[in-house]
Amino acid sequence: MNSGKKPLIYVDHAATTRITDSVRAAMEPYLTTVFGNASAAYGAGRAASRTILAARRRIAAVLGCRPQEIYFTSGGTEADNWAIKGTAFAHAMRGHVVYSAIEHHAVLHSVQFINLLGMDSTAVLPEQDGIVTEDAVDASMREDTRLAAVMLANNEIGTIQPITDIARAVHARGAVLFCDAVQAMGQIPVDIPALGADMLALSGHKIGAPKGIGLLYVKEGTLLVPLLDGGGQEMQMRAGTENVAAIAGLAQAIEDAAQLSAVGHLRSLQTRLLDGLRMVPGCVINGTTAPERRLPGNVNVSFPGLDAESLVLHLDRAGICCSAASACMAGNAEPSHVLLAVGCDRETAASSLRFSLGQSNTAEEMDHIINAVGEIVSRLYTESRAFI
Ligand SMILES: *Cc1c(COP(=O)(O)O)cnc(C)c1O
Repeated sequence: MNSGKKPLIYVDHAATTRITDSVRAAMEPYLTTVFGNASAAYGAGRAASRTILAARRRIAAVLGCRPQEIYFTSGGTEADNWAIKGTAFAHAMRGHVVYSAIEHHAVLHSVQFINLLGMDSTAVLPEQDGIVTEDAVDASMREDTRLAAVMLANNEIGTIQPITDIARAVHARGAVLFCDAVQAMGQIPVDIPALGADMLALSGHKIGAPKGIGLLYVKEGTLLVPLLDGGGQEMQMRAGTENVAAIAGLAQAIEDAAQLSAVGHLRSLQTRLLDGLRMVPGCVINGTTAPERRLPGNVNVSFPGLDAESLVLHLDRAGICCSAASACMAGNAEPSHVLLAVGCDRETAASSLRFSLGQSNTAEEMDHIINAVGEIVSRLYTESRAFI
């Protein structure tokens, strides 16, 4: 295992990111002097409460919604759970939900939960290139469909979904659309009016804010029941003393991410890495090869016959932090549901590596990764042939 002493090449930004300097500076006062409870009537409390209001306004300005439509949560997972379960509770567990088969586990497992309580659901499969079409969503809708859940960009293969078209189809059937935009923020525009989603989830730690903060946008008039009961925080919709420092950090991170200043840089790193890995014998590229349909920071490749977990450990020894498909299921050898859904066989899915790039990565790092992968893969293939 890499002890963390060697300079690391960190290419796992889809898993989490370092807190940026601007976010840290925005949080600092609320971690030290301005520690009041935002519900308190004295000055320090009012200062905290003003910061939360301002954060709501700043975020709403970026996303194109109203401040009162933003609810802070403990992260993307809570926002996903809330959108699915809160809608199901609002309909007393009657009716039907449609969701894409490549959603994050926070969505998939929430759907499983409401299934246990009696609500029906249908999974929509993407095309082989990882795109979920409006027609496929429409074909899965029923008379009693209340909700459709389709993510804006996939966390494993980076494919970007045609949310605007999907929203139109969902609305034509009288249902609401929930969109997990956690991976999209900072890499493509997240413009709520243009997307047409009724609910949308974001997470802080994927965009330079701390872990444990996120938000759910809920369009005014959308039926949703709170999951956390207690005090009257978040306009009576999400109880719990507000994490003021993290909220201030999230607002800063969202404003920074909206600049999309990293995109050109990410795109050129992506091209360089893909072009290099493509030349490694055995390499298969997962997801679409059309760049405009894929996040600029995402590269996902397989080396059929090899084991992704062991590739990750070999790369770790070479100072490279990347991920085997989805890192969410540590120790779970089940191949990725996303890769299976896009038609990968189990062998290809079980050998998949995800490199997710960030602004601080360099072209030299991409070349280093290509060389390291080339060496490790050819050694492992030779060893595995020696066993046959
Ligand atoms: C990371 C991630 C989440 C979960 O967000 P957390 O803040 O880590 O709970 C949900 N959806 C997607 C697409 C993600 O990448």
